[in-house]
Amino acid sequence: MIAFCNSWISQKARPGEGYNAPGGKIVPDGMPSVKWHLFTLQVCMRVPIHLVSIVYNAHMPLKERTVRTEAIVLRHKNWGEADRLLWLYTRKAGKVQAIAKGVRKIKSRKAGHLEPFTRVNLLMARGRSFLIVTQAETIDAHLNLRDDLLLVGYAAYVTELLDRFTYDEDDNLQIYRLLKDTLSRIDTEIDPRISVRYFEVKLLEYLGYRPELTNCVNCAEEIQAEDQYFSISLGGALCPRCGPQIPDANRISLNTLKYLRHYQRSSYAEATRAQLTSQLNRELEQLMQRYFTYFLERNLNTPTFIRRIKDRPHQS
Ligand SMILES: [Zn+2]
Repeated sequence: MIAFCNSWISQKARPGEGYNAPGGKIVPDGMPSVKWHLFTLQVCMRVPIHLVSIVYNAHMPLKERTVRTEAIVLRHKNWGEADRLLWLYTRKAGKVQAIAKGVRKIKSRKAGHLEPFTRVNLLMARGRSFLIVTQAETIDAHLNLRDDLLLVGYAAYVTELLDRFTYDEDDNLQIYRLLKDTLSRIDTEIDPRISVRYFEVKLLEYLGYRPELTNCVNCAEEIQAEDQYFSISLGGALCPRCGPQIPDANRISLNTLKYLRHYQRSSYAEATRAQLTSQLNRELEQLMQRYFTYFLERNLNTPTFIRRIKDRPHQS
């Protein structure tokens, strides 16, 4: 099931074409200029991502010959005769690419530990272009979600978001913990939709794209308890007077706005106390996906996959 999902997503993804960074409209807070130049180089000049990584690695503080770290496998693809290229989000160094040699051989002892969404302890050695996995030991394989195609879709969605919005070797412990907790929640909780919506809100915050929801982004008046507008390009809510004047503003219900504000300021335990209806979930989902797509300047692959799973006759 995972292989099916991964291959479906891989078909649609185009590695090496701006897959790991947001579009150029808004620069996240505190982003060093070298990253920006390299991202521009990658997108504008169509430079393959592994070449950009080699240049970028020269600026990285992570210079040890070996790296021992906890990591989550985001995705992988076959590489050479029997190897796999892995995209990992590591606790110590953020997103990295690594080669797992020989894992497609039947007798490989590492293979079972390096499937997408697995949380794993890794020992890696620095090669010339990539890290090379020398030891791998599973911490959590998230076995429940692997039996349910919709849960696989949710897990693929959160890993795709994280993959596209983060840069190689830009460590962020908050983001690592958010991903770790979200995959665990999708794996174990009765209603995984709450964990996915919470992930979207917190990821935006940790990346520096938090939408403004308490004051109108046009006139700065405090937002009142009534239906409002939301502008993706302005990055937040608009009062009913300003909304109709902004070309890309869409109506947003008071309830949706309340939930977004609640998720922004709450711990996950507090967030789960508010009941999420199907209608509300749909509104939040559509708004968040429009927001993410705006920054990426490209569609996400996984929402289509999730919709197809949901549309199957026996799914709710
Ligand atoms: Zn206003």
